[in-house]
Amino acid sequence: MRLPSALTEEKELVRETFYRFANDVVAPLAEEIHRQDLDIPDEILKPAAELGCFGTCIPEEYGGLQPNDRPDSLGMIVVTEELSRGSLGAAGSLITRPEIAARALLSGGTEQQRQQWLPQLASGETLCAISITEPNTGSDVAAVSLKATRTSGGWTLNGAKTWCTFAGKSELLVVLARTEPDASLGYKGLSLFLVQKPSYSGHEFIHQQENGGALTGRAIATLGYRGMHSFDLFFEDYFVSDDSLLGGDAGLGKGFYFTMAGFAGGRIQTAARATGVMQAAFEKALSYAKDRKVFGKAVADYQLTQIKLVRMLAALNASRQFSYEVARLMDDGGGQMEASLVKLYSCRAAEWITREALQIHGGMGYAEEVSVSRYFVDARVLSIFEGAEETLALKVIARELIAKAD
Ligand SMILES: Cc1cc2nc3c(=O)[nH]c(=O)nc-3n(C[C@H](O)[C@H](O)[C@H](O)COP(=O)(O)OP(=O)(O)OC[C@H]3O[C@@H](n4cnc5c(N)ncnc54)[C@H](O)[C@@H]3O)c2cc1C
Repeated sequence: MRLPSALTEEKELVRETFYRFANDVVAPLAEEIHRQDLDIPDEILKPAAELGCFGTCIPEEYGGLQPNDRPDSLGMIVVTEELSRGSLGAAGSLITRPEIAARALLSGGTEQQRQQWLPQLASGETLCAISITEPNTGSDVAAVSLKATRTSGGWTLNGAKTWCTFAGKSELLVVLARTEPDASLGYKGLSLFLVQKPSYSGHEFIHQQENGGALTGRAIATLGYRGMHSFDLFFEDYFVSDDSLLGGDAGLGKGFYFTMAGFAGGRIQTAARATGVMQAAFEKALSYAKDRKVFGKAVADYQLTQIKLVRMLAALNASRQFSYEVARLMDDGGGQMEASLVKLYSCRAAEWITREALQIHGGMGYAEEVSVSRYFVDARVLSIFEGAEETLALKVIARELIAKAD
């Protein structure tokens, strides 16, 4: 059950392509990946790359799908929603990392760094992860403390990061670090690094460098959002060369801004991830309600269920159309605050819709073998990452609302 999308024919075609990909390739593997906490297999990664999904935010001149003269946030969220309908963890979140990395590279990278990295990211040849959060700081990005110290030919990184999703498989980590030891400089003392490492499968890895440096990763066990794994990382005298500093010396102290350049895109994308999970949950709830008989009638024949389904459909479509509208605003150069607003709305709606979908399933909704239980646990993370909802409400939305009020 899907209401008219109001998309152009071209975007509708993109949607249809990824709808089929989610049905035929992602959905059949999603349950096992979730329940066994497996890595996303090449059966998903390879065709996803061939379809161009890693390049949705990368301009055509660098090998991506985005027109050279303007962003295409709408195209990106259409793809994201369909992938997330198949699985949030095993497909729908694959675009988030290259999206944030590409926006950082486009806003602060040297031409040489863009030429080197964007085509590899777009083709999916190089997978990447974003490492901002630390054990002692998440919402307060300006307080990041991982230490980068200049050394001959580059920098050494020392300290801990956490929740770095896809850090194992990725060969490129975009790492926010403190290059100025003076902590009073706050966000002005931060720089971004493009850190290369080997790709590892599984839940743990150690990359030992010849000079004695090491990077250790250990996946955090989570309720849901499985497939990419989110890692605790420990950098010990980990060497990165000079050309790893985003923007070169001109990028010193600008890491906070380059990080923020990718955040609005990550937020609208997360709204689309939420819509995809909601759509999947709604579809399951509708079909189960029609099949399951209680007191001699299908659950769907009771008016209470019908009202629930109608309300779910309304919130789902409000979320979809709101996110399309914000994407259009962003493509016209605005929409920064609205991206946070729609993220906040859609992620909350996803928690509620997946809860209602599970409830309509009764006891079976609580069984791992039924996909609606996965949607429920997956949806819960959406209001936490890419800006926790409280932080977005306080630091982005309310701030702008009050500043602009007469
Ligand atoms: C599954 C998962 C994957 C993730 N992937 C990544 C990743 O790939 N890369 C990465 O860098 N990070 C990642 N994160 C981290 C995520 O971005 C952070 O969890 C998030 O930014 C919140 O930070 P925190 O967990 O430190 O919470 P805290 O900042 O400690 O906040 C705790 C609580 O306090 C609230 N709060 C904060 N400020 C205020 C305030 N002023 N007033 C009232 N309440 C407030 C927050 O909203 C939150 O509810 C991931 C997290 C999860 C769970």
